[in-house]
Amino acid sequence: MMKIFMFLIVAALANVAGGAMYVLRRQWEQESLRFLIGTGAGFMLAVALAEILPEATERTHDVALWILGGFLFVHIFEHILTPHFHYGHERHEGLSPRVGLAATGGLLMHSVTDGVAIVASWDVDAALGLLVLAAVVWHKIPAGFTAASVVGATGGGRSTSLTASAIVGVGTLIGGVVYMLLPAERWLGPALGVSVGSLLYVSATDLLPEINRRRSAWAPLGIILGVGIFYLTHLFMHQH
Ligand SMILES: [Zn+2]
Ligand SMILES: [Zn+2]
Repeated sequence: MMKIFMFLIVAALANVAGGAMYVLRRQWEQESLRFLIGTGAGFMLAVALAEILPEATERTHDVALWILGGFLFVHIFEHILTPHFHYGHERHEGLSPRVGLAATGGLLMHSVTDGVAIVASWDVDAALGLLVLAAVVWHKIPAGFTAASVVGATGGGRSTSLTASAIVGVGTLIGGVVYMLLPAERWLGPALGVSVGSLLYVSATDLLPEINRRRSAWAPLGIILGVGIFYLTHLFMHQH
């Protein structure tokens, strides 16, 4: 029980770490952000399809509907209720503070599904729990960076930007605690399905377009590298 709260806090802090990257404005941020986004997308995609999906399928007959639900949930909060949102460094000018608020709110709701994914996968077993935690932490760094950078682009100062990434992190705790309050025997399958949908959405529609739209020879290879890292982790975890 203590462990799962620590996981949720680690995941929330990954958002803050991403926000800190933006606030510190290091020279290397663009390259490392792109590397994180590409490999994170591959790793998440592999964890969702190869690890969580089979577990979800075993536990609910409505797995497809829950995946669709998770997918649409993130889409609605990140892109329908938000006037302007995309991952990565926000460089568009003339954005109003309302845009920063909406993007932070959208990412907060997305974070709720990350909290659900962490607790539900830990309910399956420790190996899945750790894989999902890694997948979540991996994309939460660019997510925190995104939140801080949108707020920064709308005129927010450093502390406001960092606060935005922390608010996004709080969503993880909310999602985890809400899921824990539900009876696991009824909700584990649906929660795993929602996790697959949300991880699929974030990797395929938030992260991948960010690396594909840049004219770099190696950036699109990040996804292959991320899947490769997943595969090696998978071999290592299942060897005993
Ligand atoms: Zn923009
Ligand atoms: Zn997420």
